[in-house]
Amino acid sequence: MKTYDLILENMTILTMDVEGTMIEDGIIGIENGIISLIEKQKPDVSFSANKRIDAKGLIALPGFVNTHVHCFQSLLKGLGADLPLIGWLNKAVQPFGVRVTHRQQELAALLVSLEAMKSGTTTLCEFFYTNQDPELADLCVEMMRKTGIRSVLMRTFQDYGEEYNVPAGYVEPVETAIKEVERLRQKYASDYMISIWTGPDVTWATTKRGYEAILEYCLDKGVRYTMHLKETPEDDDMCRRHYGKGIVELLDEIGFLTDKFLAVHCVHLTRDEIKTLARRGVSVSHNPAANLYLGSGIAPITNCLREGVNVSLGTDGAASNNTTDMLDTIRLTALIHKGACYDPTAISADQVIRMATIDGAKALGMERFLGSLELGKKADIVLFDPSRIKSIPMHDPIATIVYSSSAENIDTTIVNGEIVYRKGVFSCGIDEKELAWLIKYELKRGGLIH
Ligand SMILES: [Zn+2]
Repeated sequence: MKTYDLILENMTILTMDVEGTMIEDGIIGIENGIISLIEKQKPDVSFSANKRIDAKGLIALPGFVNTHVHCFQSLLKGLGADLPLIGWLNKAVQPFGVRVTHRQQELAALLVSLEAMKSGTTTLCEFFYTNQDPELADLCVEMMRKTGIRSVLMRTFQDYGEEYNVPAGYVEPVETAIKEVERLRQKYASDYMISIWTGPDVTWATTKRGYEAILEYCLDKGVRYTMHLKETPEDDDMCRRHYGKGIVELLDEIGFLTDKFLAVHCVHLTRDEIKTLARRGVSVSHNPAANLYLGSGIAPITNCLREGVNVSLGTDGAASNNTTDMLDTIRLTALIHKGACYDPTAISADQVIRMATIDGAKALGMERFLGSLELGKKADIVLFDPSRIKSIPMHDPIATIVYSSSAENIDTTIVNGEIVYRKGVFSCGIDEKELAWLIKYELKRGGLIH
């Protein structure tokens, strides 16, 4: 009899494959972190397993892929309310970001990863930009790895920005940034749970030379890259003043718009710019909560989808969202675009779940092994319990997950075949109350709270 490392049985499986296959009374067998059995349970066939979960009444779905987070901002929840982006950056975020300590960075990465796993996320993309101390990036990676979450560290850079009050400690020549990215890539080259990316941080903190140099490096080494793009109208203003054209036009001119590029926000894209992104195969990370919190606007996501742009979802940093909960972002995405378009058919629950799973995996170039529950793919799986008060009764599993759920529904989170969270307990051994106390102590010590 075949023996699996882990068997999940008796649950409904939302595979999120191309056909949208749903399997009632399904079974999943996992071997070496890979899904090596997925089918309808047969009464006359039994398998042995080192570990078994009877998931009767639960729904198995692919873990969420959060394509945009800033870990250190998780310590700033609730600060900086009612400010526009530049003011919010200068008053609430940068003063802390420039003096974030090693311990604070560790605790922040821990907090983000645990909140993410508790709300169904299995892959987390950290957009890292507090580059005044190289060790901060290493500590961030180490802490994400410790929790068992799959992660991408996007070590970005800023080579300009005095006129926008970019802290001097962040600014560095692009060559320094490339050396640092290469160091991190070498250090984690053999770790399949972490990928290292790079990219410019934002338009007003990057020179044309910076774009060209990082692009050359990325294309040469096969490194994927990201950037905040057109979050606010200022993105274009700065570029027009310095280079006489809008940022999308400039990026296209230098060949920056490729299928290796993940553009974050894209709130102020024009129709022509959306067409350009679609033509070049650029993916978008849509972060609706941050866009609403900072009053940046509502990204033209339905137009992006119509033009064939691959759209993924991100929570953004908790300083502009106040949470790292993807279920919250999923619901918000489904609702705001119906409202913005005055059309309830503008975006469907199924489309939004796809954005949070398989399309997120596509945005990372990982769709061959992540984002759906299929034979041979990595076992990044969430078990969703619909028997919680908010979700009763369930008529349609996808509608329930999108509109009537919270982190309370997440029963179990599995990453690479390992149970990282189950029924309120994190496998890494961190206790929530203890973490809350540690963070409070550290913030008090750092003078952020009294
Ligand atoms: Zn961001």
